[in-house]
Amino acid sequence: MYTADQQIQARYVQYPKIEVVELSQNFLSFYLRDCDVSIANALRRVMIGEVPTLAIDIVTISENTTCLQDEIITHRLGLIPIDSTNCENFKYKHLCTCVDSCAECQARYSIDMTVTGNSVYNLTHYDISPIGNAPPIRIFHDGTFQNLINRQCKTEPGILIAKLSPGSSFKAELQAIKGIGSIHTKWSPVGTATFQNVAEITINKDMQRSIPNNLKIELYNKSPRGLFSLIVNISKKIAGIDELSRDNEKLYDLDLVLNDPLCYNFDDDIKQFLKKHKITDFIKIVKKDNEFFFTVECVGQLKAIEVLKQSIDTIRRKISETYESFLDNSATITTLNITKQTSLKLD
Ligand SMILES: [Zn+2]
Repeated sequence: MYTADQQIQARYVQYPKIEVVELSQNFLSFYLRDCDVSIANALRRVMIGEVPTLAIDIVTISENTTCLQDEIITHRLGLIPIDSTNCENFKYKHLCTCVDSCAECQARYSIDMTVTGNSVYNLTHYDISPIGNAPPIRIFHDGTFQNLINRQCKTEPGILIAKLSPGSSFKAELQAIKGIGSIHTKWSPVGTATFQNVAEITINKDMQRSIPNNLKIELYNKSPRGLFSLIVNISKKIAGIDELSRDNEKLYDLDLVLNDPLCYNFDDDIKQFLKKHKITDFIKIVKKDNEFFFTVECVGQLKAIEVLKQSIDTIRRKISETYESFLDNSATITTLNITKQTSLKLD
């Protein structure tokens, strides 16, 4: 039996749903429905900055006779994606009990390359060798790139680190650690994670005949992303004309047809046009407050669907931790003002 307050609260409870529209190794688009914009934005921010991955953090260079400075190569190495499918097996370095570093909190790699031939050598991620049980420098990518782990199955050029001239060499030891994108973008598993509002757009079919063709053409031109299409209507007679002729454009009637509501960019241009010409009943545009369309593009450490799953798990954990903290009787509210300070104990 619920109390009146609980029944009122239950009315506002929503259960978010996700409908995947497009999915590949590194791309994902989906609808998020039945939730507030704050939840949608939380999901976006978690995907960018809270999903842990591995990235090279310390580079110890023993020899560099390339034309690039140590700092530039180190920066490039930090941005190379490392397979983070089993990232949960690693501890965060600052939470590890070891003195400096150990196999539980870091993965080690090495580069040892000296160009002995007479041609320029492209130093790529293929030249990074894992040490011990370090994960491979594998990149989840659409197309043939996805399964390339080592040089033996190389059909793609790889991620270029530096061009080595004949006789030059680069030798270094690399340490990768677990981190999140909010600390540094090199740990972020996504290059793009955006969402947009979804509009419900309806065209009044009964008004198609009463709207002049020139206004429909202007509406069509006001949606460069392809929100509308124009089709020639030859199935209906225009008032006063018994026979339709393709030779006389006045005898054609154009129908404005909705293509994809996601092409609407909420710039109010169309609404103002409808208002100006007093035809606001022709097209109804309503922004849905509880539906969002996401576009996610990953950079290689994790598959796109894995980024989404881990993001949802992270949000669940954070909500649970927040809930637990409010249940904790030790939580206090402190009120500060100029004249007095009061501490309240939560029961
Ligand atoms: Zn450790």
